[in-house]
Amino acid sequence: MIPGLNQRLLSWSAAWSAAWRGYSAGLAPRCGYLECVHAGSLWHRVRRRSRGVRLQGARYCQTECLELALTEVFAQTRPVARRGAGSAAHRIPLGLHLLSRQQITAGQLRTALEAQRAAEGTGEGKKKIGGWLQELGFASEQQVTAALARQWSCPVLRAGAEQIGAGRVPAIPVLLLESFQMIPVELVEATGTLLMAFSDGIDYTVLYSIERMLGCRTDACLVCPSTLQQSLQTLARRRGSSDIVFDRVQNAGECIRIIGNYSANVRAQEVRLARCGEHLWVRLERLRQETVNLVLRLPANISSQFSVLSSRFSVTSPV
Ligand SMILES: [Zn+2]
Repeated sequence: MIPGLNQRLLSWSAAWSAAWRGYSAGLAPRCGYLECVHAGSLWHRVRRRSRGVRLQGARYCQTECLELALTEVFAQTRPVARRGAGSAAHRIPLGLHLLSRQQITAGQLRTALEAQRAAEGTGEGKKKIGGWLQELGFASEQQVTAALARQWSCPVLRAGAEQIGAGRVPAIPVLLLESFQMIPVELVEATGTLLMAFSDGIDYTVLYSIERMLGCRTDACLVCPSTLQQSLQTLARRRGSSDIVFDRVQNAGECIRIIGNYSANVRAQEVRLARCGEHLWVRLERLRQETVNLVLRLPANISSQFSVLSSRFSVTSPV
């Protein structure tokens, strides 16, 4: 036995392991789609150093693998009911809030409730009691907004329309802002908290989607509907037509193809998805380039379509 050979072999093997670890770290990562035929082998990973695209914690080597992963992810996504948590149904009615502050009389509340009942089944049937009280001249917009804020236990934003969202706020698609009657007010960088203003009650499910999509926390407040409308118009003008909207997606397959194609065309590094009511918000994040937002209006039966498609595929456990 050569003296010191064991020692030399051990140090050589440690050096080789370290070198291999360093080299393999530079390879294209393994594809998240278990049955991937493109980048599963070491040879493909050496030849193809593309980092692929990330979706829910896994990387996919090509558009085809991303599309297969999307099928699986969609099948697991259940439609989220709007305002599921924190519904206003069990809160003190808005009319009673105004009545308790003597901002309206019992007679005025009765008249407004009768007008609301009489309008059921007509075009105005969906108008809330706050809207009727304003229309009949019994309460002001500010009074109704303040009562709504008490109902939701949150503050009222007293900023001018031009001040709302004037700073650096993350781009949330305008279609979603209009659909949920909300607007980003400001991002507090120190705490990573985005303040969102709503004019028609707070939707906690959409706040949760925003948190997941933007990786921040959210806080909510109420703002007068007329102020929200003005600031939404200003924001839409400032942003131009940067969101890409698909108003009629026929089926699950088309939805997946759209996301796959755009992801490849804009060279997305990461795809993020969130269901917001009847829409799907897709964020395509890029390296040192602006994020691209897609909004797809989903067909009503899309969840069951995805379930059928996904039964044939498997991906590495998405988060
Ligand atoms: Zn792959």
